[in-house]
Parts: sequence; structure tokens; C-alpha cells
Amino acid sequence: MGDPARKPDFEGLVHEVGAELLRRAAQARPSLFDARGLRGRALARAMQDEQLRAALFRFVDTLPQLRTNGEIAEHLRAYLRGHTLAGAWGRLAASVPLAAAVRASVKRVARNFLVEETPPAIRRTLAGLSRVPAVASFDAVGEAVLSEAEADRYLERNLLLLDCLARDRVAAPNLSIKLSALTPRFDRIDPEGSCRRVMARLEQLMPHIQALGATLMVDMEQHDLKPLVLDTFRALLDRFPGRDWLPGIVQQAYLKGAPEELGELIDEARRRERRICIRLVKGAYWDTELAAAAQRGWPEPVLLDKAQTDAQFERMVDLLFYAGERIYPAIASHNVRSLAYAIARARMHNLRAWEVQMLHGMAEPLMHAVAATGVRIRVYVPTGDLLCGIAYLIRRLVENTANTSIVRQTWLERRDPAELLAPPWPGAASAEEPVSRDGFFNVPALDFSRPEAREAFAAALDTVRAQFGASYPLQIAGAQRGHPDVQESASPAHPSTILGRVEQASVPQAARAVENAIAAFDKWRTVPAEERAALLRIAADLMDRRRHELAAWEVFEAAKNWREADADVAEAIDHLRYYAAQALEIGDWRTTHSFPGERNDLRYEPRGVTVVIAPWNFPLAILAGMTSAALAAGNAVIMKPAQAAQIVAHRFAALLREAGLPATVCQLVAGSGGTIGEFLVEHPAVAAIAFTGSREVGFDILRRASAMRPGQRQIKRVVCELGGKNAIIVDGDADLDDAVADTLSSAFGYQGQKCSAASRVIAVDEIHDAFVARLAQALDAWDYGPPEDPRFVFGPVISAQAKTRIERWIETGRAEAKLYYRGRVPAEGFYVAPAIFIDVDPSARIAREEIFGPVLSVLRARSFEQALDLALDCDYALTGGVFSRLPKHIELARNRFRVGDLYINRRITGARVGVQPFGGMGHSGTGVQAGGPDYVKQFMWTRVVSENTLRHGYVPPQEA
Ligand code: NAD
Repeated sequence: MGDPARKPDFEGLVHEVGAELLRRAAQARPSLFDARGLRGRALARAMQDEQLRAALFRFVDTLPQLRTNGEIAEHLRAYLRGHTLAGAWGRLAASVPLAAAVRASVKRVARNFLVEETPPAIRRTLAGLSRVPAVASFDAVGEAVLSEAEADRYLERNLLLLDCLARDRVAAPNLSIKLSALTPRFDRIDPEGSCRRVMARLEQLMPHIQALGATLMVDMEQHDLKPLVLDTFRALLDRFPGRDWLPGIVQQAYLKGAPEELGELIDEARRRERRICIRLVKGAYWDTELAAAAQRGWPEPVLLDKAQTDAQFERMVDLLFYAGERIYPAIASHNVRSLAYAIARARMHNLRAWEVQMLHGMAEPLMHAVAATGVRIRVYVPTGDLLCGIAYLIRRLVENTANTSIVRQTWLERRDPAELLAPPWPGAASAEEPVSRDGFFNVPALDFSRPEAREAFAAALDTVRAQFGASYPLQIAGAQRGHPDVQESASPAHPSTILGRVEQASVPQAARAVENAIAAFDKWRTVPAEERAALLRIAADLMDRRRHELAAWEVFEAAKNWREADADVAEAIDHLRYYAAQALEIGDWRTTHSFPGERNDLRYEPRGVTVVIAPWNFPLAILAGMTSAALAAGNAVIMKPAQAAQIVAHRFAALLREAGLPATVCQLVAGSGGTIGEFLVEHPAVAAIAFTGSREVGFDILRRASAMRPGQRQIKRVVCELGGKNAIIVDGDADLDDAVADTLSSAFGYQGQKCSAASRVIAVDEIHDAFVARLAQALDAWDYGPPEDPRFVFGPVISAQAKTRIERWIETGRAEAKLYYRGRVPAEGFYVAPAIFIDVDPSARIAREEIFGPVLSVLRARSFEQALDLALDCDYALTGGVFSRLPKHIELARNRFRVGDLYINRRITGARVGVQPFGGMGHSGTGVQAGGPDYVKQFMWTRVVSENTLRHGYVPPQEA
């Protein structure tokens, strides 16, 4: 190492160690790249062709779900279409033996990474490792845990692993565990409950860990679960303070702020005087983290630059190595540079108590090379079957074959050692801007993993509680005040709690509101679009500032849980901003086509007095959406909210006034649909009606509005968004983890009271039974209770009448089909226990009528095509969903499944303004979708002015 008197050249040492590692490692190839035959050829090709790689991995992802060789052949051909491998593989796979060979081949690749969960297989693996020599950490990998039974199964698998370790008296026993797999509800919105549920199962595991003196390594999961993982880890330390086990936790270097958080963890170990093992990894969910952040509009939690991550990893290695005896570092990497750095650092400090960790099946030559340096190696050994481990397998395959894969660069590309060992050189990482769509952004949902967000929301609930019982008088300028007709607004979860007293309009008062609107319209229509848009944007900003309080009102008045309430307010803000932008885009006069001597101009003009009749289920988003679109277009609006959500409507009206909107340009007229709603619809001075609600009322409005009444000067425009009987098709090859979780939230989120909710599932025969069983088990894990308590996902329905109506539907269902599952609910409040019916005949009423509650009808289909026919055999056409992995079925659905919003391999609720414009056809609506580019124009008409500018043969110069 040169002259010892000089300051040791640390980089030189890193290179020296690295060169030695590379030299030793070069003598063999990782077993994955050694594969011959079908598997070897496919992987070799996949390395060179990015698209083929994606196609192959998508195929592999589907494989566990495919039962027959015919299905395998069909999928393989579909995925490989257009690739050079396709011909050979497709032909081969079409023959039954070869399809079996494909399955076997993929299984062999899987076995490269995943060890069978049986005592002999584990023993064999350990024996193999002892020859390196290396020790192991076992990890039972698996599918998503969606029910208590699945969490129990995960616990059992871990107990079995511990039993194997105990029987074989394994040295340095170590078990890796995923906390989110110990409960079906590991939810950051309910940290205490989540922690309690996990702890209940950990308590069964811990005696075995203690008896073995083992390390329990808590895996880190996606970023938004990190605080919950850390809190639960701390609770585990509190609960099991003894020195008879070693607690371990993973830290990911790709997270922004990771070194600071690692520092806190080290401090905590010192404070507790507790030894902790910290496994340092770079992080395995980079793509997922970026996609999740982009979709939610949250800042990216991960570093964007790979070199930055590598540099941060090295900083964290230093932090761990300088941390002292309380920390036992486990450095997990397959990157020669990162490992050389750690080994060099450890040598410099003469550190012995640490280890290198590597994944089973990855970079074995490097593992041997590291072992030869005398550092302890621990191999992380995932166990489980192919079906359970598929997500894990795909991650590893991607990792090994990607261009940036260090394993690939080291062994296949044989890059220059100097390049492989160069210190990471972070580029100027571009802080990427969120993707802007014409200057419009969706307001991000609140991140309830942050305690500040939860505290602010809880405080808003208290603020709102203090306002219970207030009066909400009518505010119609010039209206005669008689004996006020007051309606009490009660909480669906606590019907005896009066939230407020809302004055209802009489017909003469509503008539006065129309007169006000007529007068206001004359001025408002001339206000430039810029000013109208500016007012709406001020209102949006105000709403953003009051976001928690408005959502808190929804929690009490409409019984929405925290997330649903927050999402509704966010959507309302989006509507205000989106339609403001639309108004600007529509603008003023535009030229259609002008000729010399002829000028032709067109302008969109508002229609006039517009009545907005809203439902209660999205109390702010729908009311604010219809209203702001009509206002943006220049109409004077009268809002008639649903009686079950009148307080939220009052808050919105007050907010518009505060934003500076003239009081008579947008008035609130509370009252019953039957009297006030009908009166407004029929009023001859009303030019447009925007209605969202049930089909029955919508059809009635369309009929009434089409009648010409004395004094009426125009044909009324009716914009209707009505109900749905939305179907999700579950294809035979569907990913059950996704299909179950997403169907669950689509069907039972907000107690099924969404127009977009799934109320039919059509499952293809071969998957039907497994799907239904898992769905019911997963639903059974939901907790029911008042929505102000974030522990509960599922709350009451909106009213006593709704409860009676839905219960009647359930009785109908009992007569028509087989009740497969019924939940339990509290006695107080308007709760309806969710129900799943199976063996539902397509002609049954529960298969055809909108129920608007937590009732799901499951139909069985022989094939995907038949499922599609059944889905389409319906009067409604609002939303629909498909879970399938066969490209041809997805394509078929795209073309034939004609509903307003079709969702593929995802939940069918939660449309975002400007991204998924929302609305249906058939009996579901009049067509042009809300939150889309054409919506505002429905509240307008076009007018053209054509002028002959020719004067006795003279064309004015500017037009010549
Ligand atoms: P609803 O039809 O009972 O009431 C909607 C509104 O219409 C309320 O303000 C009500 O007071 C008013 N109304 C009732 N009778 C009236 C009449 N005769 N004349 C004028 N107005 C009248 O619906 P709801 O129970 O509030 O909401 C649930 C329904 O709304 C479901 O069918 C659901 O699918 C539908 N919905 C559709 C969408 C969509 O975008 N397509 C969105 C939300 C809700």
C-alpha cells in the first residue's frame, strides 16, 4: 500500500481490494448465466433485447396462473409475437410436451433464486452454503396478504423455518420478516392498530427467535410504510428487551435523507444500550416508488441518479462502521465497487464484527471472492413456491438482466475493472418537475403516513365538532322570510347527533332565486373569461387551505372515511382549477375562416340560468364540479344540493362568496328534490340543468325539462350523470393479488355508494372459486365503525331509508342467488353488513339493477368472451373493469367493453380530473364526461357573426 508514513490512500485500497475480488470472481460465472438449452438461450436473448425482456418477464409473471399447456402456449405466443424467439418458442410451446418444458424451465430459473420450503431443501441449501463458507437469512416470500387466514399462513411458514433452523442447530440463525405480511391491514393511517395487529403475531414468533438466540431482521417495504415499519420495530424492542435475540432492520440507501435517518437509528441503539443489526441495501423498489409518487403527485422519495445512490451507500457504510459496538453492520450488495469500499473501510478500522449479505442465486463467484477475503458472508435465502415467489423472481430477473445490472456488467460485458471500480460520480441530479398537463396538476392526496397529516386531520375533526348544531339560514337576496322550514342534519354514524339546522327554501323563495339569477346573468356573461377563471382559482386556493376542515365535515355528514373525504375535497379543487383553465382556452371570439371581404367569427356563449342538482355521495366534488363548469362558462348558477349533504354545500357556497363571486351569480337553494328540485327544473327561465343522481330522477328531469312551458324562450340543455351497474371481469389468468384487492376497494369502498362502484363481478370458470374465496376472506379482515375513527375502513350508509332499501335488496338476493358472505357491523348507526352473492343468474334483479350499497353479485362465465357478453348485457354503461394478462383479451375489452371509463388491471373507482374524464352512456348519462376537455362547452352554445366587409369593391387593407 505504498509508504506507510504517508496518509493511507483509501481509494487505492478500494481499488486493490476490488481488483482482487474481480480477479477471483472472473474464474466462474453466476449460475444464472451458465444456463444452457431453452432457458439459457432465452435469457441470453433477453439481455440484448429490451422489449423481448419485458415480454418474457410479463409471460413469466402470468405463468403460475396458467393451468393447461394450451393456456401456456397461448400466452407465450401472445407475448412473444413479433420477436425473433416467437416463432421457435411459439411453435414449440404449442405442442403439449414443450409447454410443459417451458413451465419446468421457468421453475428451474425460479429455483435459482427461491428455495423450496421443505426441511430437506433448506438443509441442502445450508450444506451448500457451508462450503463457501456462508451463513443464511431465510425469508418466506409470498403473495400479498389480504386476509387473516393468509397472515396466519405466513406466520406458520415462518414457524416452520424456525423449526428447521432449530432442528439443524444452524449457526448464527437469522430470519427476515415482512411486517405487512403479518396482518391484512398494515395501514399507515392507523399506526397503533397496525402495530398491535402485527405484534399479536410477532408474539407467537418471538419465543422461537429467543430460544434460538436468532436475529430477526425486519425488512423495509415501500417508502410510505417506512414510518410504520420503524414504529413497529421500536415497539418490538420495547416488548422484547432481553439480550437473547438480535433485532435487525433494513435501511435503503436510495431514499432521500437516508443517512440522516440512519443516524437517528444509530443514536437510538446507543440510547437504548441495545445492539441492533442494520442491513444496508440500495433498495429494490425504485421503479415502483417513482410510479407511485408520480401517480399520487407526491415528491419522489428516491434519488433519481444511480451514482448518487451509490455515493450515499458509501456514506452510510461509513456511518455504520463508525457507529461503534451497538451496531452490527450487514452490507448487502452485489456491486464490486460497493463491496470493495466496505471491505477496505473495515480493514482500515480493523473492524471484524460485520458481514456482507448477498442474495441466493445472484453473483455466486463474487460471493466466493468475498468469502476468500475472510469477511463473513450471509446469503439471503428466499423460500416459497413458484406462485408465491413470482414477484420476487421477476424483480431478480430484471435486476440481473438490466443494462445497468452490475452482475451483467461484471460477468457478461466484462467491463474494464477501472470502470467498475471507479468512485460513484453523482451527476447533477435533475429534480424532475411533476408532469404538467397544460399547466394543470391534480392536487395530491394527503400522505397519512406522516404524523403531521394525521394530527392536522384529527384537529380539523375537533374544530368541526365544536361547530355542531349551528344554524344555516337561507341566503337568497330579496327573498321573503316567513316561518322558516328547518331540516336537521344528522350524522349517519350517530343518528342522535345533530350536525346543524339547515333552512329549506319554499317555492316562492326558489322563484326569487331564479329572478336574482336572471338579473345576475346579464352582467356575469360579460365578465371576461380571465376574471371568471381568476375567481374560481381563488376559490380553489381557499378550498386547499380549508382542505382538512371541509373533509372533516364530509366525515361527519356523509360518513366518508378520512381518505375518501380527503379525496373528495382534492377532486373538488381539481374541478375548480381545471374548468378555470378550460374557460381560458375557450376564450372569446375566434375566426372560423375568413375570406377577403368576408369576416367569419364564432364565439361560445353561456346559456343562462343553470340549475345544478347534486347527489350526496361526493358532496363537494360533484357539486363543485358541475357548478364551477357552469360558472366558468359564464352562467348564473342555482345549486340544489342533496338533503343528506347540505352542510357541506353551505360551506362551499360561503367559500365562493369569500372568494369574491357575486352572491347572486351562484346561489344555494336548499330543499327537497320533489318540490324545489322539480320547481327549478320546470321553471321557464332556466336554460340548463346539470344533474348527477339516480336514473329514475334523471329520466324524470329529462322528461320535465323537454316540455315547453308558457313564457319559455329556449330549449333546455340537460347534462345528466346517472347510475351504474358496473362489472369487473376476472379472467382465468388474472393476477389474484390485484384482482382481489382492487375488486374489494371498488365494490365496498365507501360502502359501495359510488356510481363507479363494482356491483357485478363476472369471473371466468377456472378462477371463480379461488377468487371468491379470497375475496370473502379479505373482506372479512375489514373493520367496521364510525368514519371519524381512522381505524375503520367501512362505515354506515347514508340514511335509515338507504339502509332499509339495501337490506331489502339483500332479501331479494337471498331469493335469487346464494349468499356467500355477510359481514358484521355495529348496532348503532345506519350500518349494512356487506354481502357477496354467488351463482347469480344474469337475469336476476340483483344482476341488473343499481343497488347503491355494499352488495356484490358474482356471475360465472365459461370464457372471457362470454364474460364480456354478460358485462355488456346491461342498461347502464358507466365504468367497467378487466383483470387479464392475455394481450388479446385486453385488446378485445378495449374495443368491445364500451363503458364511459374502462379500467384494466386496476380498481375501477377514483377517476382523476383531467386524467380520466368521468361519465357514462346508455342509461348512465348523456355522454360528455366531467373533468374532460368538452365538459364546459355543454353549458354554452355557439354563435357566429359573418360580416361582409366589402364596400363598393374596396376591401379594407387589413383583410386584403
Ligand atoms: P337522487 O337521484 O336521489 O338525488 C340526486 C339529487 O336530485 C338530489 O339533490 C335530490 O334532492 C334531487 N332530486 C330528487 N328528486 C328530484 C326531482 N324529482 N326533481 C329534481 N331533483 C330531484 O340520487 P342520490 O341518492 O343523491 O345519489 C345516488 C345516485 O346518484 C346513484 O344512482 C348514483 O349512481 C348516482 N351518481 C351518479 C354519478 C355519476 O357521475 N354518474 C355520480 C354520483 C352519483
